[in-house]
Amino acid sequence: MSDYPFFFTWTDQRRAVPIHLTGGDGAFVDTADGGRWLDLASFSFQANLGHGHPRMRAALAKQAEELCVVMPNAIFPAKQELAQRLLELAPEGFSRVFFTLGGAEAIENALKIARLVTGRHKLISRYRSYHGASMGALSLSGDWRRPPLEPGLAGVVHALDCYCDRCPFGHKVDTCQRECARHIGDLLQLEGPRSVAAVVLETVVGANGVLIPPSEYWPMVREACDRHGTLLVADEVLSGFGRTGRCFAFEHFDVVPDMICLAKGLTGGYAPLGAVLVHDRVARHFDDNVLACGLTNYAHPLGCAAGVEALAIYADEGLFERAAALGPTLLTDLRAALPAGHAAIGPSRGIGLLAAVELDLPASGWKALAAGLDARRLFVHLYPSRGTVVFAPPLCIAEADMKAGLAGFGEALAEALRAADADRSPS
Ligand code: PMP
Repeated sequence: MSDYPFFFTWTDQRRAVPIHLTGGDGAFVDTADGGRWLDLASFSFQANLGHGHPRMRAALAKQAEELCVVMPNAIFPAKQELAQRLLELAPEGFSRVFFTLGGAEAIENALKIARLVTGRHKLISRYRSYHGASMGALSLSGDWRRPPLEPGLAGVVHALDCYCDRCPFGHKVDTCQRECARHIGDLLQLEGPRSVAAVVLETVVGANGVLIPPSEYWPMVREACDRHGTLLVADEVLSGFGRTGRCFAFEHFDVVPDMICLAKGLTGGYAPLGAVLVHDRVARHFDDNVLACGLTNYAHPLGCAAGVEALAIYADEGLFERAAALGPTLLTDLRAALPAGHAAIGPSRGIGLLAAVELDLPASGWKALAAGLDARRLFVHLYPSRGTVVFAPPLCIAEADMKAGLAGFGEALAEALRAADADRSPS
């Protein structure tokens, strides 16, 4: 039982596992008990730049000296520069940025913009997805976090997933007709040809299993949206800023969304900030219509300064290219670390520095795996309820550290499998 005067998130408080952080550098994190952990998770997928970056600290300190408290219509250099740089990173035709404090708010404002622009209210997302904890974003989310809070936003329809290793349509990727993409077109039609404001999708599904679509998926969804006058929103909160080896994950696919939702890697976690990048064909609507969206700390100076510096570091340290170069090693070494031929080991997938392996473990096996990782001081995303482990190291991780961490994961998994097998065998 934790005895702290604040809540721990996504857990009952009795089972919360507090971790006393004191600092860190690069891919390593220090804890108060003198421990040094290797972060193969980027904490909550935001620490793309690694920990304790001196340039980020300096940029925040400088901004704190200059200007901290603003109102939403304030103009100051970091706000202008960040918006400019983000639009330069976006595909041609993007003309406006809406700033928020995090990912859920980015989704929230994208769906509000879609409703305002189209005059429609319905939204389509997918089951294996997470878009944030606020009610609109949670309504779009498909995983276990939504049902406890229902009913959610009216008009949200969930589509079946693009999940090639366990195709919901019973197909194999080399012979299918991309039924998952056609399905979204069918839903747009069946929901009423002019009733869906937006389709909101993680470009590459992150925490729900690293689901990587085949190349035709996004262009087919784009085409279906165009046919129905529906806006296409790419949730790049997790996949953005180099995670998949490109700045934005949609750059792997031949598609241009209408809005791009960002957070996490936007500042690498050094300050809270999210953003919606808006294509000019959408943004123009608000030239003469009220943008009924806003927040007190819109474009907070510390967030903007962190964003400007983060983008500079991504470029100066070549971190997107680094993620692309290290990506194959992450997946190869993960696969090599998996105990061969064990029935509990499911499919594994990866793109850039984002990879997952499915595991069919009993609760005791997951517990043993968590204990083995703790003993080796490795941060990894364990999702027992989804039967998945996800890896997302900081983009600056040294190759040797990543390899050692994956080998450690393999050992911890082998121990957990032995414990689970012993549990299962009749005594
Ligand atoms: N979208 C995706 C794809 C995410 O992974 C997350 C956070 N895990 C969010 C949105 C919500 O971001 P935040 O927690 O900053 O609100």
